[in-house]
Amino acid sequence: MDISYIINELGEDREQYFNAVAPPIIQSSNFACKTVAQLRHMLQHEPEVHFYTRGNNPTVTILEQKIAALEGAEHAIAFGSGIAAVSAAVLSQVKAGDHIVCVQKPYTWTNALMKKFLPRFGVEVTMVDGTDAENYRAAIQPNTKVLYLETPNSFTFELQDIAAVVAIAKENGLVTIIDNSYACPLYQNPIKMGVDLVVHSATKYIGGHSDVMGGIICGRKETINRIFEAEFMTLGAVLSPHDAWLLLRGLRTLPVRMERIAATTRVVTTYLEKHPKVEQVLFPFLPSHPQHDLAHRQMRNNSGQFSIKLKTQEIDKVDLFCDSLQHFLMAASWGGHESLAYPVSASYTSGSYKSSLPYNLIRFYIGLEDADYLIKDMEQAFAKT
Ligand SMILES: *Cc1c(COP(=O)(O)O)cnc(C)c1O
Repeated sequence: MDISYIINELGEDREQYFNAVAPPIIQSSNFACKTVAQLRHMLQHEPEVHFYTRGNNPTVTILEQKIAALEGAEHAIAFGSGIAAVSAAVLSQVKAGDHIVCVQKPYTWTNALMKKFLPRFGVEVTMVDGTDAENYRAAIQPNTKVLYLETPNSFTFELQDIAAVVAIAKENGLVTIIDNSYACPLYQNPIKMGVDLVVHSATKYIGGHSDVMGGIICGRKETINRIFEAEFMTLGAVLSPHDAWLLLRGLRTLPVRMERIAATTRVVTTYLEKHPKVEQVLFPFLPSHPQHDLAHRQMRNNSGQFSIKLKTQEIDKVDLFCDSLQHFLMAASWGGHESLAYPVSASYTSGSYKSSLPYNLIRFYIGLEDADYLIKDMEQAFAKT
């Protein structure tokens, strides 16, 4: 299916709403029936009909159809946040006594789900270095049910070879789940590589303006309908119709934003790689990166996140560099119009090291500003350190 068709037309039925170009926000919790026969039909066909907004809402459905199509998935289900989608996807595949193999250093709250939350319910998790797919195989136990991927992963941007991990999963009858937020649905399509469930934080690139939160799971219709009946309806982390509308609005410009972000990020990372005050740039799309070939094999393009290690022994220097940036906002998250810097050293409090990441690591996100504007800002901050 054509990306332009998906983004601009698919799922929209303008004649139903005065030929309005923008879809309506159906801000209703409830949908009424005229007859008992209609109500009976609704109850029997809940995943397909609009009955109650913690369930199905027409504005949310448009978003789900578009993201499913962009991922090449049969079906999708939207949530109120990315982590709600991650948690529901994982919970849908395990019960007490089961085991998960997860890539090490995933997104912060995925890490908390795996290490703190799931063990309370008798689900065991082993974290592995995902840069070698064989580490997944080696960690498989008789009770393993899920192989969990996040590629590239947060902060260090290491890749997992999706096809190789899928092959190991299929040999062992296991389910694969991937967090595809980094690449967005345009730049990596894991369903086509055989992954079972693809999860996105729609808060990031899909929303694209740092003004809305959402999440989505894509997969086979039967699996998504099972998630609807269980984790979605019981945990109730529903996406509001208004937020779905904002995500749809963000989606209209996703291709142009991503192209711009990708190009600017390549210019900025090339500048940083040559900079004498930078020890290392962690970005798989630099030709010098050990996973450069894999990045090109499984992704269509880079996006806007990468990290650097500053060449310094002192946390104060890292702080000074970040404090000196005038146009990068200092914040978590990413995917909006605004460029961001996030120093890991902020998690280090006098002597108690709270992070497993190096003190000199700074994560950057490149937004929609000009490359020159951003490089000049970095240059003046380097000059102060
Ligand atoms: C932000 C993020 C999430 C969580 O998404 P929220 O919308 O903040 O709940 C999950 N995975 C990755 C990789 C993220 O960056």
